[in-house]
Amino acid sequence: MAIKEVVKHPAKVLTEKCKEVTVINEEIITLLDDLYDTMVEYDGVGIAAPQINVPLRVAIVELGEERDILEMINPTILETSGSEVDIEGCLSFPNLYGEVERPTYVKIEACDREGRVYELEAGGFDARAILHEIDHLDGVLFDSKLIRVVTEEELAEMYGEEE
Ligand SMILES: [Zn+2]
Repeated sequence: MAIKEVVKHPAKVLTEKCKEVTVINEEIITLLDDLYDTMVEYDGVGIAAPQINVPLRVAIVELGEERDILEMINPTILETSGSEVDIEGCLSFPNLYGEVERPTYVKIEACDREGRVYELEAGGFDARAILHEIDHLDGVLFDSKLIRVVTEEELAEMYGEEE
């Protein structure tokens, strides 16, 4: 396990379609662990493999109040519905925050680290985070979906003077 450097925009690896994982081996387990360590270090709510320079379809997201870790290997979107505009950021875009429209519900299928296929339904911010990370696996970055940039001053007003 290791904290990796986060690849920042603009970098080619961030805009490429990532490859499917064909076999879940030690390399993939280590990748999942590295993603976790890196996400925690940089205080993200999700991170995708290309963000640590690995162009494979692997991403993790923190879900809900419990901050459970969802590990997604080869995720596919089965269903979405609804629409909501909310603020997003991305570890690959330091200091860029803005409003993005996303579905309010998503149903995905993915593999876990044991190689088991699972389905998962999520709503609200969880759905947003999952869709943001799956976009990364297709080389789609949130700046291409920004409706409006939100300044750090605005953010501070919205969320209080936390940091
Ligand atoms: Zn991102």
